[in-house]
Amino acid sequence: MILDNVTMPEYERGLRDSRTVIIPFGSLEEHGAHLPLCTDTLQVVEVCRRAAERTGAHLAPAVPYGVCRSTRNHPGTVGISTATLRALALDLVRDFHRQGMRSFALVSGHAGRTHVLTLVDAGEQLLEELPQIRVSVISEYHEIQKAGAALVEASDDSHAGEIETSRVLHLRPELVTGTSPAEWPDFPEARLVRDKRRHWPGGVWGDPARASAEKGRRLMEIAVERLCQLVRELEGYQEPSGGDELP
Ligand SMILES: [Zn+2]
Repeated sequence: MILDNVTMPEYERGLRDSRTVIIPFGSLEEHGAHLPLCTDTLQVVEVCRRAAERTGAHLAPAVPYGVCRSTRNHPGTVGISTATLRALALDLVRDFHRQGMRSFALVSGHAGRTHVLTLVDAGEQLLEELPQIRVSVISEYHEIQKAGAALVEASDDSHAGEIETSRVLHLRPELVTGTSPAEWPDFPEARLVRDKRRHWPGGVWGDPARASAEKGRRLMEIAVERLCQLVRELEGYQEPSGGDELP
């Protein structure tokens, strides 16, 4: 069920079929000179929509902003703080729980480390608060990076590179304006930098020229199948009884 489109009685009936909700988290973030700012949202919504269709889980509307650190000085990136993202995740899960949902897949299309860890942190708090719920936090980009490695030619592909460009070419080719030069950022290992754009002026991490729509179609399928698997696992998971044993 796509929750955006259903009525009150349909929602109520839908709970009899499934009590699982998939919540996509995107971003409004620069993706080089060739991909739209909504790239992460576009990808994650489509993965979640297809997975909801195949598993019978419900699809919530996406959160279209995320925590963006390394691109925050590039034009077009508009982000939220970790406190806001955390509060949003907490509020949404609490309210869906009040409305009858019990299993929650928080799926991120934005792969920023701080962003994903903030969702994990919110999930941990929710497990403490709401004893009946099950929670998964998934970065779908990282799932593709692992499971789709054989399809990717350039090494160390990441932001707006071969994977993301391929996926947008598959989903919305009219939004792709050519390509951007290959680029690999040179951030220092431990030191945090104020002038982030200096370390990757083009805002690309990888080689977008190696992208293709066919590759994008196959990578999307990998992400959808992986999410379906995780949703089924989440729904089938039983908490061990007792729960107070020492490790
Ligand atoms: Zn992205």
